[in-house]
Amino acid sequence: MSQKEIIVGIDLGTTNSSISVLENGKPKIIKIDGSSSMPSCVSIDDEGNIIVGQSAVNQLLVKPNDTHFSVKRHMGSGKIFSIGDEEYRAEEISAFILRKLREEAQNELGHPVKKAVITVPAYFKEDQRLATSNAAELAGLDCVRLLNEPTAAALAYNPNRGSDQNENILVYDLGGGTFDVSLVTSSEDLVEVKSSHGDTHLGGDDIDELLIDFIIDKAQMLIDRESLSTTQLLRLRRACEAAKRKLSNQATAEISEEYFFNDEHLKIEIFRHEFNELVAPLLEKTWTSVHAALNDAGLVPSNLNKILLVGGSTHMPIVSNSMEERLGITPQFDVNPDLIVTMGAALQAGIIGGEKVEAILVDISAHTYSTGVLENHGGIGCIPIIKRGSPLPCVKSDLFYTTHPAQDEVEIDVYQGESRLPDENDLIGAFTIEDLSTSQSELQPIICEYALDLNGMLKVTATEKNTGHAKTVTLDTRGTQQSLDLTAAKEKMAVLYEDELTDNDSMLDSSSENTAADQIVARAEKTLESDTLGDEDRTEITSLLEKIATSKQQGAPESVSAAANQLDDILFYIE
Ligand code: AMP
Repeated sequence: MSQKEIIVGIDLGTTNSSISVLENGKPKIIKIDGSSSMPSCVSIDDEGNIIVGQSAVNQLLVKPNDTHFSVKRHMGSGKIFSIGDEEYRAEEISAFILRKLREEAQNELGHPVKKAVITVPAYFKEDQRLATSNAAELAGLDCVRLLNEPTAAALAYNPNRGSDQNENILVYDLGGGTFDVSLVTSSEDLVEVKSSHGDTHLGGDDIDELLIDFIIDKAQMLIDRESLSTTQLLRLRRACEAAKRKLSNQATAEISEEYFFNDEHLKIEIFRHEFNELVAPLLEKTWTSVHAALNDAGLVPSNLNKILLVGGSTHMPIVSNSMEERLGITPQFDVNPDLIVTMGAALQAGIIGGEKVEAILVDISAHTYSTGVLENHGGIGCIPIIKRGSPLPCVKSDLFYTTHPAQDEVEIDVYQGESRLPDENDLIGAFTIEDLSTSQSELQPIICEYALDLNGMLKVTATEKNTGHAKTVTLDTRGTQQSLDLTAAKEKMAVLYEDELTDNDSMLDSSSENTAADQIVARAEKTLESDTLGDEDRTEITSLLEKIATSKQQGAPESVSAAANQLDDILFYIE
């Protein structure tokens, strides 16, 4: 391990985060302050230093306005969080969390940690994925792969390793802020995602909110939630969350807060059946996604072999009970729902780092990507280019025409979503291709190529067919006012962590780029030794290896990493 570059696996959760590394082919969870996971909470201490994890949680009642949790729900949204005199976006708060995880891993492993596989909800959209990789960059981490959480879980679980059985597994992931469901088939050495659905705003936090309203009502407080002070609300939320957890193991739980209203105490008992009634409508929403995922995968409940529960909120007995009732399958209880995602991330990190891991992963796109076009009736419609469920990585293209002969520029609007109507989808990018060759009599054909990489990140290229004149964009956030100014954020980080910044820390360090490319080159050279490799693949690999070697000689790190990424995709398929 000392010679090899370490790639860690990180579960950047809404409520808790964890980090792990592959050791001797097995994921090892790195303890943070003695625990397997750390609260995803950030605050400030009395000296004005940023603090993260349990110590930040401890500040909640002392510094409620400077203490932030569940920021994952706001990734890429542009929402501002203030800490002390500074203002931060969710990406920056997440960067503090990632930095702390990274430091703990470095202390434990005794090596610099610069690369990570980071998990995201399968249903995370383009801007949320980009926000996550920006957060990593701000934390001094190169995010080598964004891995979908349910996929990570299936990869870590894979019950069929070493057997010739094929199984359909439903992965139901209900965490603090997000819900994901994926249908996965697992065979001897392949974990293949068939479909994914979910909701990026549904989780344990919503249950806590329901419980708060319930308690306000049951205690006959005679005030509404808005009239509670910040501290009262925080105390109530904390008590409700603790009661919710208790109700996973007990039939009743008590909410007891002394001197809640000046001299008066708050003491309320809640029964599990009351709690179950409260959360049932919320869980019903998850069933809509479960059925949609089954439908997309072309499966019916009787085709399912196993159910994997992931995420803290699946500790609630009502979740497993409803699985048994509706699908007739008892979920696997031999899995730790809180740690399986980070374990899967470590396995994927191992695969990327060239470790011998007996599993290969095929993931899919959770969304459809389309181009907006002017339709015959004059309205705008969305023409799908990459359909939901397409295996990653994938490249698809379609041919479009300018709308009138003398047109010398065309705007390409890129949408994410399932509808044919633009208003019902997310506009995730728009760009103009100018200086088209014009003709008085003909419409110009434009090829739109969409390339979705293994991280679920999209690159769009529009090329004028007749001239080859092309414009390529890697899509970032949907509106400029929402996107993070990464350079400014990096400067802010550099000031905060001034004493720690060394050359070693710079993720733009070309030697680290080279190491990643070197690992891919080593894999490719090994692949070339195989007798079963097809001629076409052999030629493509050889030409990319040559391109990498030439770009290195020319001192062009960007070309090295572009060619290495292309090579990585090819190897992924072959492997
Ligand atoms: P995660 O995002 O997977 O860390 O899940 C965090 C969510 O799980 C939070 O809303 C927690 O309140 C919730 N949670 C954790 N443990 C339990 C439990 N035993 N019963 C019910 N909810 C829980």
